This record gives sequence, structure tokens and C-alpha cells, in this order.
Amino acid sequence: MWRKVLFGIGGLLLGFIAYVALPLQQHLSQDYSQVILANDSTFLRVFLNENEQWCLPPFLNAEIPENLKTAVLTYEDQYFAYHPGVNPYALIRALYLNMKNGEVVSGGSTITMQVARMIRDKERTLFQKLLEILLALKLEARYSKEEVLTQYLTHAPYGSNVRGYLAASYRFFNKNPTQLSWAEAATLAVLPNAPGLIFPTKNDRALKIKRDQLLRKLYSNKTIDQETYELSLIEPVPNFIYPFPLAAPHLTEFIHQTNQLNVVKTTIDPNIQYETDFFVKQHSARMQQMGIRNACALVLENSSGHVLSYVGSQDFNDLNKSGKVDGIRSARSSGSILKPFLYALAIDDGLILPNTLIKDVPTYFNSFSPNNASEQFAGIIPANKALIYSLNIPAVRLLNAYGINKFYNNLEAAGISTLFRSPDEYGLPIILGGSEVTPWDVARLYRGMANGGQFNQIAYLPQRNSQNNLQLISKGATRLILEEMKELIRPGLEFYWKKYGNQKPIAWKTGTSYGHKDAWAVGTTPDYTIVVWVGNFDGQSNKSLSGMRSAGPLLFNILNVLPESEKRWFEMDSKDFIEVKTCKETGFYASSECPEVIHTQAPKNIKPLRICPFHKTLQVEKNQIVCSHCWNGQHENVAFLNYPPDVRYYLRKNGGLIQHLPEHKADCPTRKESDVLEIIYPLDQAKIMVTRDFNGAYQPVVSRVATRFTDRELFWHLDDRYLGSTIDQPSLPLRLKAGEHRLTVSDTEGNKHQVSFSVIVN
Ligand SMILES: [Zn+2]
Ligand SMILES: [Zn+2]
Repeated sequence: MWRKVLFGIGGLLLGFIAYVALPLQQHLSQDYSQVILANDSTFLRVFLNENEQWCLPPFLNAEIPENLKTAVLTYEDQYFAYHPGVNPYALIRALYLNMKNGEVVSGGSTITMQVARMIRDKERTLFQKLLEILLALKLEARYSKEEVLTQYLTHAPYGSNVRGYLAASYRFFNKNPTQLSWAEAATLAVLPNAPGLIFPTKNDRALKIKRDQLLRKLYSNKTIDQETYELSLIEPVPNFIYPFPLAAPHLTEFIHQTNQLNVVKTTIDPNIQYETDFFVKQHSARMQQMGIRNACALVLENSSGHVLSYVGSQDFNDLNKSGKVDGIRSARSSGSILKPFLYALAIDDGLILPNTLIKDVPTYFNSFSPNNASEQFAGIIPANKALIYSLNIPAVRLLNAYGINKFYNNLEAAGISTLFRSPDEYGLPIILGGSEVTPWDVARLYRGMANGGQFNQIAYLPQRNSQNNLQLISKGATRLILEEMKELIRPGLEFYWKKYGNQKPIAWKTGTSYGHKDAWAVGTTPDYTIVVWVGNFDGQSNKSLSGMRSAGPLLFNILNVLPESEKRWFEMDSKDFIEVKTCKETGFYASSECPEVIHTQAPKNIKPLRICPFHKTLQVEKNQIVCSHCWNGQHENVAFLNYPPDVRYYLRKNGGLIQHLPEHKADCPTRKESDVLEIIYPLDQAKIMVTRDFNGAYQPVVSRVATRFTDRELFWHLDDRYLGSTIDQPSLPLRLKAGEHRLTVSDTEGNKHQVSFSVIVN
């Protein structure tokens, strides 16, 4: 009883002095470790604080567990609840003991004084001790007992660079503090007093002795029962330091650089993150044998736009293979992966429906002449097949018809953030990988397709679903395109494709960049969007790189482990569509001349589809086409599928059976060739000298045509070999060998001109 009275009097006196002497507003350091959490609040990563310590922020845990509080107070400061910050009895006793022993054996410090010492962090002199006492009194006056104890436990030194019970609980026991046993709580109570005891395993006897003494005290004051006491004694003391996890290292690194908050909760799903990481590593190990070093993958939840897993490279710690590079934010050539976006836009624009034919023949657009990866030409092919076979020429023709500026603006609006040139500088090659895109932006683009054409931000921090949805494409058009993308044959499953009825459906697209530098596989389901990129971060090309073979298998590994409530697919809601009558054979809007007409689903607000240009009723007389200028009155009307000459050439070459189209009657007055189309270079019977350039290659000869109809497509033949067609361009560079040549140019209306010339090589 007299002790309490003494506390009271002493406290009042010293408290008064403290208020006069220490008006400083001093606080404990706020230098905490940054903690990055998964969506279930487990750790993704913990960073050292600025003093290179593990010191977790206090608000990670709602409350300090009772057993830890009790153990700490029993060990450090039994009268904590009663004293005003200083325990004069303990101080006098400590002074007596220290003088008697000739050295410091006891500090006599209360928990409040220890907090004061942590704040001041000065040398331990008698004067400093006095100041600590005054500060302790001031702390008690301002803070509750609970707050003082929390301050102590949050910052107490636990040996090496571990500070605070939170970090200690994870580092020594790999546990949330709420799960600590009495033995573990006792260990955490004794350690701040002798933090040197924790790390070297040789000291674990000394640590155990101290812990067991505290357990005995807890038993003898009836805090714990006998059974708990005995079981606690046989628990080992920690002799192993658990590392903090290092999940989603590229993302957490990025957050650490850009976000100052002590605790950052992300949208990462720890299980999906773990599995994606596993498959990227496994797949990459296989790719290494072929000299393909890097891979990355991103998984989004489509409904929220939240990132569920973020694997920036095959191995963050693999410094020899640029493991620290974040592939998800690296701009790479897009290969073919922008094509579905164009096809969907082109549907809304009335250029195509999935079955509309697009020409697939050699074509020159000014100086640009795309080629298909297979170097084969179909002649003419439905849009959906052109998309899933990823043919380049139909995509370029479609972009040419759609307009590069419009396409570019839509890409930017959809979130492609890496376009740094003007639309004209990119030109038509943009659809074949002429621009660079990041896997992050690609994920956003495909999620927008899955979202019915609404393109929004995606996020790794929980966000409220943004309401300003940007509708760039109609829902109907995206649904039609996703439906087609489902049909892509899966890598390695070509033979089993139909057998694997229970395979999860996915709309997906692969891409391989020019020169085999980047392999992409991107897919989307009603629930998820997955982006996979495989290649070399340093841009080294590799002949084995292909979207289908190098990236596709990884996409499906990831897809197969994603939790799916049921096998479901995008709904085709009838209110998003109208029915249009199309020509069965060509997929254009049916004209009265089309022999077979079918009903086709089209997006509700589609612009008018072009009328079938290929079915034509012509007048035929003696197996010749005639017109009002040349018929003799005995003609009959015959319906023809009238493809242009280049299409006919390739259809015939590919064994496609096509109807024979007769020639226009030769002596028709409208057929004066030079009137409408004339080769003006080389001239007929000319002799041309071809010189070599600096590299020793022969300079091309640019042939030219004069025509009144500059918008007509022109078809070029050299020595009966078809060269290709040109659009809006009455010229074509020719690479010529020495000798005699014959150049023939025709147009879509069947006008034709031919010249013969000879070439002399210098
Ligand atoms: Zn037709
Ligand atoms: Zn005629």
C-alpha cells in the first residue's frame, strides 16, 4: 500500500517538473516497413524500412494479443497499470543493486521509460536517464496505458534488424501474433531485454532459460495452468528466421517506388499468383533450351478489371537473364494481336460481317507490300477465317478500308498508351506489329472486348467500378468476333480438339512479331483475361519463337487452373442484334442478283453493309460478254460470280473451282484499251538500262500506268507471272533480269494494256 502512495506523490512532483522542463512534442519514429498485401490480406512482400529494419506498421493488427501483453508486463513492468510512468521503488532498488555490484545489472526502467528511451535514442548517461524519466511522465500524461504499451511493443528491439512484436512474430514463428502460444509470447517478452540471444543458435539455451523463468513466474502467479506450463516448457525456442514472402515481385517493386503508404492492399489473388508464377517458371525452363530466355503473364478479372496475378518475368532473382525486367510494362511489337480489335471495329463500320469475303492476293499499298506468314495467298477468304488464320493481307486491306487515323484513335481510346508516332508514320503496318504495346495495355484491350466493347482502366489496387464506361465497339460486334476467336485450334491439341469436349472455352489470338522477336498469346473468357508474352527482353530474335507454339501452351496452363464456377460462355443477347439478308457465297448484303440469300446476325447499329459486288448478271452472246454497244440482239442474261482477275488466278491456283468468265466481245467500241488504261513506262519496244546500287543490287525499274480512274485497283503481270495489285497507285517497282519482258496491266473492269521491252544489265 505504501508503495502506491509513494508512486502517487513522486509521480505528481516529477510530472510537474516534466511539464516545465520538457515541452517538446516528441514521438516515436514512423519509419515503418512497407507491407504489400494480397487481396486476402496475406503478405505479398515486406520491404525494409529506411533504417534497413523490419518494423511492421502497427495498424496491420487491430489489437495486441492478451497473452503477449501479460507476458511482457509480467517480465518488464509488473506495476505498469499503477505507476505514472516512473517506478521510484524500482529506480532506488536498481541504484542500490548497481552500486553494490559495481556494474549495471538493472535499469529499473518502466515500459514508459523504455518508450522514452526509444524516442530519444541517446547515450545512456545519468543525465539522459533523468530526461527519459521526465519524458516518460509526459508520455503518461498524454497517452493511455494501452497506447504506451502498443508503442513499446511496436518498436521494441528483437535482435538484429527486427523491430516490434509484429515483425518478430512473423520472422521467428511465421505466425500472425494472434496465433502465438504462451511459450512464444514469453519468448517475445524476454527478447527485447536481451536481443542478442535470438540469432546465433548456440545461444538458444540461454534464451530458453530466460523464457522458462518467465513461464514459471506466469505459472506461479496463476496466469497459466500447470498443463499449459508443462507443455510450454517442451516447446523449442526459435532457431530459424523465416523470410518474408516475395510474391509478385515486379508489381510490389513498382508499388514500392510509386506508393508511400505503409500498408498497400492489392487485388492480387495469392493462389492464382502462385500458380501463374509456377507455370511461367516451368514453361520458361523448357524454352531456355531453345535460347528463349524470358516470359511474363498477367491475369485479370473481367468484371472488376482487377489484376489477379502479375508475373513480370520468368524469375525475378535470375540476374543473368534480366529477371528484374518487368515484361508486363515493357513495350513490344504487337505482332497480330491487334487484329481482333480491327475486325470488330470494321463490323460496326459496315465493312464486314464474319462471313464477308476479303481479298487475299499480293497487294501494294504505296511502298508497302504485306505478305502472309505462309507466303501463300487464298485469293479471297471470309473475314472470320482471315482472322483466325491471322492472314496479313486481308487485315491490311481491312485497315486500309477502315482508315488508319480512325483505328489509331480507337487504339488510344481503348488504352494503348505506347503509340509515340503519328498515325501516318505508323501507316498500315501497325496492324501487323508495326507499333509496340505492353502486355498491360493488351490486357486492357481484350478485357474491353470481353466487356461488350466498353474499355476501362484495369487496376492492381481495389477500385470502385468506374462509371464512365467508354463504349468504343458495339456489344454485338465484340460478341461476333469473340465467337470466331473461340475456334482457334489449340497448340498441341490439333488432333484431340473435338475430343476434348470439356476444355474450357476461350476466345484467343496469338501473335508473332516480325523477325521472330515476340510471341504472344492473349485470351479472354466471360470471367478472365490472360496475356502471355514470350521472347528475349534484349530483343534478340529466335527462329523458334511463335505465338502458337511458344506462348499458347502457357496460356492454356494458366487457363486450366483458374477457378471457374461453371463452363460458361459469352451470351448472345438478341437485343444486341438485328438480322440482315446477306449473299450466302460472299457475305455481303444480298443484291437481287445473288443466287442464295441467308439471314445473318449483325450488330444492332451496324452501318449499312456493302451490296454484294461479285454477283453480276451479264449479257452473253456466243460465249462472249456483250453490252448495248456491241450486242446483236440475240444475247441472254447469265448470272456470274464475277471475281477480279487476281482473285480468279489464286482461286484457280489453289484448286478452287471457279466459274469460267467469258471475255468481252473483242470488237466492242468501248474496248479501246488505250482510252482507259495505258502503260506509259516502259514504253512498248523500249530498251532499258538497269544499274546497280551501292550494295551491288540491281535498281528496280518503276513502271507506270496512266488511267482516268485512279481509284481502280490495278493488276500487274510480268511475263505471265502475276505480281500483285495496286490500290490508289498507278506504279509498281519491277526487279528485272536482262532480256526480253512483257508487262501486262489490267483493271477491275477488264481493261488491259500490254507492252514488250528489253532490259540490259550494266
Ligand atoms: Zn452475291
Ligand atoms: Zn460491248
